[in-house]
Amino acid sequence: MSKKRIFVIHTGGTISMMEDKESGAVKPGEQNPLLVSTSLLNEAATITTAEPFHLPSPHITPKEMLELKKLIEDTCQTTAVDGVVITHGTDTLEETAYFLDLTLSTDLPVVVTGAMRSSNEIGADGLYNLLSAVRVAGCEEAKGKGVLVVLNDEIHSAENVTKTHTSNVSTFQSPQYGPIGIVTKREIIFHHAPTDHQHLEVADVHKRVALIKAYAGMDSYLLTALKDLHYDGVVIEALGQGNLPPATVPAVQALLHQNIPVVLVSRCFNGIAQDVYGYEGGGKHLKELGVIFSNGLNGQKARLKLLIALSSTSDLQQIEQIFEQ
Ligand code: ASP
Repeated sequence: MSKKRIFVIHTGGTISMMEDKESGAVKPGEQNPLLVSTSLLNEAATITTAEPFHLPSPHITPKEMLELKKLIEDTCQTTAVDGVVITHGTDTLEETAYFLDLTLSTDLPVVVTGAMRSSNEIGADGLYNLLSAVRVAGCEEAKGKGVLVVLNDEIHSAENVTKTHTSNVSTFQSPQYGPIGIVTKREIIFHHAPTDHQHLEVADVHKRVALIKAYAGMDSYLLTALKDLHYDGVVIEALGQGNLPPATVPAVQALLHQNIPVVLVSRCFNGIAQDVYGYEGGGKHLKELGVIFSNGLNGQKARLKLLIALSSTSDLQQIEQIFEQ
């Protein structure tokens, strides 16, 4: 069987950093260590690489995400590749993975990976995760499952995965759903499959969308300020099943009157925000006002979805339909 052709895109992050033994600081060096070790991967697949930027993932913005989407689509159209792997810092890895999941128009496997320990630390997990990602990207069964996230021998869907631990190598988990597959020494095993997959067109990423967490005793100042600061939309991580403190309601109403979408997710990391409670600021009340309920996404992913939706429409009903899918 001929070797799979995998296009590996390095973007930065701990996976391509080194620890300074004197100061203990983890940072990018002169050269990306992953570019040197690519030869080790050639046993598993025929690798071609690109390094469009070299950034810690807190420096990644939707602009870089859009650049990656275009790079992947252009490469898949012009070059014979069987799969794509992206190495990325873990802090915002789930956001880039979900952005690509929503917007990419290719059925080829696209796998995002990273590392919790830099390349010269004891127990470094980068090269191992990269090799696992290359193996998954070359696997027929990985096709048509949306963008995948592979670390620590697990395969997760971009839609459900989130970083759950600041430093543990098993940080990536899919609360409520679990991984969709595992990586073993000999095999790639998928044991679940996503039931549906949403595709959205993205024209640009210029809109301004805020993400705000609700808390007991929250007032309306921050939400009111968003309107004055010309934000185009807001996602609120609401309480429990999708409720807000009553003091926020006038600001929510004012945003909606200005045609600024207000999308609600829950700050609970399991479950779906829904219009259940009928008291002031309860989900039913908010829904009646025109607040849009998201379908189980976490706040940072709902924010990207709203940003993408706003690139093609500012109609609140259309945006609501996008979130209902
Ligand atoms: N702060 C690092 C980053 O996201 C963390 C990592 O890569 O694991 O770039």
